[in-house]
Amino acid sequence: MKNGSESFDQLSMVKKITEDIYLLSIPVPFGMVQVNCYLLRGKKGFTVIDTGIYSKEAIDIWEKVMEMGVTIEQIVLTHYHIDHLGLARWFQEKHRVPVYISSIGDREIKRRLKKDHADYVISLFKQHGYLDYTRLGSEIDSYIYDFEPDGTFEDGEQVRLGNEMYEALWTPGHSADHFCFYQHQQQIMIVGDLVLNKIAPIVLIESHHDVNPLQEYFSSLERVGKYPVSISLPGHGNVISNVTKRMEDIRSGHHHRLEEMLKAIENEAKSSFAVSQEIYGKRKGLRTATHMMATMTRFIYLESIGKVKSELINGTLLYSLVE
Ligand SMILES: [Zn+2]
Repeated sequence: MKNGSESFDQLSMVKKITEDIYLLSIPVPFGMVQVNCYLLRGKKGFTVIDTGIYSKEAIDIWEKVMEMGVTIEQIVLTHYHIDHLGLARWFQEKHRVPVYISSIGDREIKRRLKKDHADYVISLFKQHGYLDYTRLGSEIDSYIYDFEPDGTFEDGEQVRLGNEMYEALWTPGHSADHFCFYQHQQQIMIVGDLVLNKIAPIVLIESHHDVNPLQEYFSSLERVGKYPVSISLPGHGNVISNVTKRMEDIRSGHHHRLEEMLKAIENEAKSSFAVSQEIYGKRKGLRTATHMMATMTRFIYLESIGKVKSELINGTLLYSLVE
């Protein structure tokens, strides 16, 4: 069974993980630097997990891969963020490759296409004290999200990726629609953006449906933590050698921040934005928004477990300790 994979050796951005799994690193011009796409060998061609971002550079890489004789049977997406789904429509239109995403992901795509999609987060940021926030969104959204997936899958469903069956595991937190995939016999976990090697994945609110994403994120870690894993394949960065330890580190990183935040409001009620600036320092642009999002989702979590309470004062939510 070749499927053209013998030519992978010529591509510097391809790394062999096992006999049947290859990692293709696609550059991302912002944030995470690169995204991992996985190619899983199958009888009819490779199943590709995540496509990378919509860019000329990424398209050139995929064209090169296919010119080498690599057949792509299908695209399966971990979640709907642009760095993972960006080329889904392109694959479907240009190469007639079917695209699969979870039914929750399909729902998120449709929400994303609505004009007022970003309004909720903007108003939420304002309410949490980040008054001059402007969305650093991309205009490309309306193109890349405007497609119909060829099929969807559900939580707990067995899906065929390459030659093997994987269990689809709904693991929200980083995004409402995030999925991991687990191969039971080989103990392979495609972790996506649930667990990353160097940094803790951002926990996001992207619509009013995302009520307490940090709580969901912790539950997702717990769920995945119950599976014995020998190989874990993240959405960015290097393959994780000890995923249990890494999950532990990420969890304790969050708890350290939660403690810092409780300390910050010991004597005075403060907004998420004020606490975010206090803890992370004053930054600009995307960084400010990232830190703000992290602080806000943590306060929402702290309130849900009864550690803090919030009060709307002159339009701004202020958090204080629960005595
Ligand atoms: Zn990502």
